[in-house]
Amino acid sequence: MQHPEPEISGLRGMGPEPLEDAFTPAGLAQALAKRTAPLKSTLLDQRVVAGLGNIYVDESLFVARLHPQRRANTLTGQETIALHGAIRQVLGDGLAHGGTTFSSFANLGGDKGNYLAAAWVFRRTGQPCRVCQTPIARIRLGGRSTHFCPNCQPL
Ligand SMILES: [Zn+2]
Repeated sequence: MQHPEPEISGLRGMGPEPLEDAFTPAGLAQALAKRTAPLKSTLLDQRVVAGLGNIYVDESLFVARLHPQRRANTLTGQETIALHGAIRQVLGDGLAHGGTTFSSFANLGGDKGNYLAAAWVFRRTGQPCRVCQTPIARIRLGGRSTHFCPNCQPL
């Protein structure tokens, strides 16, 4: 009796890490196209992007000017490219600000380093948006605290 070799990708089941070369706008577009969930929940899904924590998702969506409740499969090509770039930018900034704290960005339970002082939206509920002065809003989405600017990130 023969046992078929399991596929490596099936075993792994994880999306690429955001700073890897394997994380591309085309790959991201493909993953988003299959999902009708809100962007916030989709980006926290390890099968889409590996290791993107709550802070980074909120910050990336702000930089890309996308509402967290936007359905993943409704993004245009330009919006997907913006989101891809935003994720890389925010992760790069986090690593620069927080040093080793952010080298393991999958686990952000403890010290948030210096990054929060510079955050666009994360944990800034009610404070003025750094771009337009609109108070930052906070909602629960997929069980996670979600921060965004209602003006910069229209639904
Ligand atoms: Zn704003």
